[in-house]
Amino acid sequence: MVRIMLRYHHNSGTKKGGWSIAAKILESLQPEASVSRIEYEGPRIAIYTTNPRYFVDNSNVIGELVVTLRKRIIVKAAESIRKSPEDVRGYILDSAPKEAGITRLFFDEVLGEVIMEATKPKLLHIPELTEQEFFIRTGWRLKMRHSPPLSSSAIEQVYYALRSKNERIEFLRASGERIFRERLYPRSEVTFTVLGAAKEVGRSCFLVSTPESRMLLDCGIHPGAKDPVDAYPRLDWLDTLVEGIDAVVISHAHLDHVGFLPVLFKYGYGGPVYMTEPTLALSVLLLTDAIKVAQAEGRTLLYDNNDIRRMIMHSITLPYNMVTDITPDTKLTLYNAGHILGSAVVHLHVGEGAHNVIYTGDFKFDNTLLLRAAHYNFIRAETLVMESTYGSHSDVMPPRNETEEMFVSSLRDTIEEGGKTLIPVPAVGRAQEIMLVINKYMRSGELPEVPVYVEGMLKEATAIHLAYPEFLSIQLKRQIMESGDNPFMAEWYTIVDHPGRRAEIVDEPGPSIIIATSGMLEGGPSVQYFVELAEEPKNKILFVSYQVSGTTGRRILDSQTREVSILDPGTGKMRVIKINAKTERIEGFSGHSDFNQLGRYIARLRQKLHRVLIVHGERRKTEEFSKYVQQRFRVPAYAPSLLEAIRLY
Ligand SMILES: [Zn+2]
Repeated sequence: MVRIMLRYHHNSGTKKGGWSIAAKILESLQPEASVSRIEYEGPRIAIYTTNPRYFVDNSNVIGELVVTLRKRIIVKAAESIRKSPEDVRGYILDSAPKEAGITRLFFDEVLGEVIMEATKPKLLHIPELTEQEFFIRTGWRLKMRHSPPLSSSAIEQVYYALRSKNERIEFLRASGERIFRERLYPRSEVTFTVLGAAKEVGRSCFLVSTPESRMLLDCGIHPGAKDPVDAYPRLDWLDTLVEGIDAVVISHAHLDHVGFLPVLFKYGYGGPVYMTEPTLALSVLLLTDAIKVAQAEGRTLLYDNNDIRRMIMHSITLPYNMVTDITPDTKLTLYNAGHILGSAVVHLHVGEGAHNVIYTGDFKFDNTLLLRAAHYNFIRAETLVMESTYGSHSDVMPPRNETEEMFVSSLRDTIEEGGKTLIPVPAVGRAQEIMLVINKYMRSGELPEVPVYVEGMLKEATAIHLAYPEFLSIQLKRQIMESGDNPFMAEWYTIVDHPGRRAEIVDEPGPSIIIATSGMLEGGPSVQYFVELAEEPKNKILFVSYQVSGTTGRRILDSQTREVSILDPGTGKMRVIKINAKTERIEGFSGHSDFNQLGRYIARLRQKLHRVLIVHGERRKTEEFSKYVQQRFRVPAYAPSLLEAIRLY
């Protein structure tokens, strides 16, 4: 007797949504398929079998079902035939060569998956451990991972939260029922409401509504704003409570895109959040750190660690390029955005071919040492929602090699003078790119070898980069996975994992380079280093990332008087710092597309576009860029205001 868990939805009229899917699946399978139950698992349909071999031998069956049903389907072994974790562990350790260096076996009982981390996963390509053979022998799905040479507490936090078995099963089932219910309204309509990042850089948050669904794209805070009305996304303007949201999609792990997400869970959101796996780990890192920073400064944040745990529990991670149903009328695909590790360009396909929305998030349309250029090859793209951080005609960055030369010669000058260079960086993205550049030039001898200090949080973020090498540029991935030459762990790098060492580093005679967070001198160790280094003329503060208006970093760059008032992290008091050190800005390393790259991206999509909405840029830039798009590409372009709702279809 087959237990079918796809329940009939009482609102779905005469057609029985879940039942009809399950019936179609059963109809197309032979009795030997031995299906024990069919169940929703978030955006996938899970078929449980007591005969895994049938599905391995007839792999075409599922492929055909996916094509006819146009749903993601996964085959699982019924719990009754799954081997115990102890037996599976024994089986793996007996068959795997010792040199493969297995460091972790994590049994995800909810998904029936074993995550195996190894230092040399290539050596595990043996017949006993192929996906199919492992499934037949053990009833578990095997997922292999490269085990990073540095540990990350954020990744541990994710693993820990995934142990809450019952809560997760219930969540996946409930969200599956919501995703796969029958459509109530056959007509497709799409509106787009701007809840943040309108003519400003910060608090990205947009609502996409259809008659069937309410989807939130990003949920960030404004890093430079103090008043809640300016700092948080305007969720107070939602026409429903947060419970009414069907899905949240996070483009990438910067706080101006994800910083408000735990608050949604605090106020009752219980639905899924879609993002890539690295975005989840990096978000956990940054959100947890934000709590620590706030505590250290005597502030309280709007969320706590328990809200982060609930966020992890409700996260559904997706690889790039995988089409996934997220509501009854919308499919989501995440594509590489080239901005930071795991960053995604979001593609929403509404209705059966009715309308397609591309939301770039933050993106870089050029290769870097760290990442590949953003994906552009969409089949359809009627509406493009695009960032415009560098949307002014003057925002043209020098070519990459010139940027590197400028950077290296700037560092060399300070080293030769005997000074120390502070490079404030956001923990994720620029930090790793800068480490790769420094490594490249110290290796070649073009940059004198001096100690490079890397502050603690960057170690965590770097560890997460090393845990997901498949998301990095092809060359870097190869370097880490195959040659074992890990550029993040070169001999000149010293990781500072205790704040007590900072005084030593500052007092040490002779030149050095210090890479520290935060990137805009808003909290974090970079502020402490700045206070200590700013008054010495030999030193240098070298900015390599975008400085949002209102932040300390921006005030330093704009300061005519060469003075800045700052909260001294040592004393907790406001203090005026005289800036005798040199201050410099190098923009070419940005993870954002410059003016030309933004234009090239539109040129690539031009034939498909019906309209372009310009967001995530300073007021003047969004307006300038939308005018440019209209004139140059003859596509309707527009910079929406905060709280504006636009009918897309
Ligand atoms: Zn970003």
